[in-house]
Amino acid sequence: PRTYVVTGSASGIGAATAALLRERGERVIGVDLRGADVEADLSTKEGRIAAAAAASDLAGGVVDAVIACAGISAPVPKTISVNFFGVTEFVEALLPALRASDAPRAAVVSSMASLQPNSAEMVEAALAGDEARALEIAQGFVGDDPMTGYIVYPSSKRALARWVRRESITEAWAGAGIPLNAVAPGTVVTPMTAELLATPEGAAMVDSQVPMPLNHHQPPESIANLLIWLTSVENTHMAGQVIYDDGGADATLRGDDI
Ligand code: NAD
Repeated sequence: PRTYVVTGSASGIGAATAALLRERGERVIGVDLRGADVEADLSTKEGRIAAAAAASDLAGGVVDAVIACAGISAPVPKTISVNFFGVTEFVEALLPALRASDAPRAAVVSSMASLQPNSAEMVEAALAGDEARALEIAQGFVGDDPMTGYIVYPSSKRALARWVRRESITEAWAGAGIPLNAVAPGTVVTPMTAELLATPEGAAMVDSQVPMPLNHHQPPESIANLLIWLTSVENTHMAGQVIYDDGGADATLRGDDI
């Protein structure tokens, strides 16, 4: 079996991914705040480094694939820490263990939200690796109105998508033979969206962006299966892609503008 490190393994897309991998006989080391093999807080630098070290130890120093699903959508500054730095610094900390594998792979989870209005300044700060500055910019958007704070989420996912394109073709990733890609989901039915989808107003707001979605809201398995293919031995040449697995949200929002 291959050894997979899956973040956000206690819920939603991460839990579905871990379950499908285990069903296939693969070995999964789950990472989450609670209810995981490695319990850690990916919102802090210390948490990320400790989590990567613990996962690597449990894997005996050889990790075949990392799948980073952990994320939050709250209109708070912490969202940039978890969704961007909690992914990028965590997977980078696992590079030595990935390089020890015969067929290393990595995949992260962006979102169709990366196509929504976002803060270019916050995205640039994140891509520059300046977490303090990114948090400061995020704080500026988060007032008393949750709607203004929402911009942190699309900004975090935009930054992550651009990080994947940029990093995938560097010495650290392509140079080491490690495909690095992202999946951008549409509206997935998980605890993250449960509250929003439970009210007719919330559901209408979510659905208003995509009038003709393919097969309506997605089960987490629709994303899990793609993450599993991207990190399988079969993926030998796909790198730097942000794959919109979103019922057509990307085609709706961007149209021909690709
Ligand atoms: P979820 O809330 O069901 O699961 C997220 C998991 O991440 C939870 O188990 C949570 O404990 C963990 N997590 C959160 N903060 C953490 C931290 N600081 N340290 C460690 N673990 C932490 O959500 P989900 O819907 O499965 O989302 C998974 C990923 O998919 C997220 O990155 C999310 O942004 C993305 N996404 C979700 C949707 C959707 O519609 N549900 C759409 C697009 C993208």
